[in-house]
Amino acid sequence: MSDTVLQVEDLSVHYDVRGGGLLNTRKRTLKAVQQVSFELRAGETLGVVGETGCGKSSLGRAVLQLVRPANGRVVWQGRDLCGLSDRELRPARKDLQVVFQDPLSSLNPRMTVGEIIAEPLRIHQPELSAAERTEKAAEMMTRVGLLPDLARRYPNEFSGGQCQRVSIARAMILEPRVIVCDEPVSALDVSIQAQICNLLRTLQRDTGIAMIFISHDLSIVRYMAHRVLVMYLGRLMELGSRERFFARPCHPYSQALLAAVPEPDPGRPVSQYADPLPGDVPSPLDPPSGCVFRTRCEHATPVCVSQQPALELAEDGHEVACHHWRRLGGHGAAT
Ligand code: SF4
Repeated sequence: MSDTVLQVEDLSVHYDVRGGGLLNTRKRTLKAVQQVSFELRAGETLGVVGETGCGKSSLGRAVLQLVRPANGRVVWQGRDLCGLSDRELRPARKDLQVVFQDPLSSLNPRMTVGEIIAEPLRIHQPELSAAERTEKAAEMMTRVGLLPDLARRYPNEFSGGQCQRVSIARAMILEPRVIVCDEPVSALDVSIQAQICNLLRTLQRDTGIAMIFISHDLSIVRYMAHRVLVMYLGRLMELGSRERFFARPCHPYSQALLAAVPEPDPGRPVSQYADPLPGDVPSPLDPPSGCVFRTRCEHATPVCVSQQPALELAEDGHEVACHHWRRLGGHGAAT
């Protein structure tokens, strides 16, 4: 599992936004992702975690060039995808697929599920006949746990879990090498979440596909991911193996996220659960100086206000962006 399939270097995503008030039409730049770097390896799942608004989805979309990055590189098969035209990107799109959060709204309601699943074949493999496309769609439906007899039905006749199976079948039919799953189970019931997670794991085992799995649910990420990337206000806070991350996170934000996961204890009043992450995420239009986490970090010192921490390499290949990570949970050395 060491072959790198995708290299992301210093990726930034900016959005132009206007206003903030009735008369305020000033254009401002929202920096949704700032200088994020990582590599994705064949057959691995990289879990991307963080609170709402931390830039997880923007990162996933920028990797796929569904939003165009402001800066940085996404290197796929030796070629930087950033800056390529839509036409030049088309061959890469075959190998880089996506599954979105809301399965029903991501499917065309006017197409049958058979047509939806087969549509990528029509675009990328025009040499196939209609009968061959139908046959491949039926095979794919079976692989994702749907009866091929349902191919003539429309998405609104399916449950949420079935719609997500259709989305996964459509994403997988071209046998891609990378799939970005953007909160793929958060709109589903808990029992269905497990089924979809197991389906994704089975498909990965069978195909060797690499997965970027975006989620705010750490329990699901623990089940799915081989490595974990933590984001806060568009910046990478920590990146490393699942085992190390869940056993001994280096970054205060990672530690707070993990401490915020409630242990199921029916006899314990909600008021007795700790609140390790007080306050809200600051506006990305006006991020704090220095370390962007400093306004919520109980360990902040003057250097955290004045200097943005660089990403440093801890043991086990972990990367962490905190001035004081050694003292706060790294390998024990004092800063
Ligand atoms: S750099 Fe400072 S403010 Fe940021 S996480 Fe580390 S200790 Fe907290």
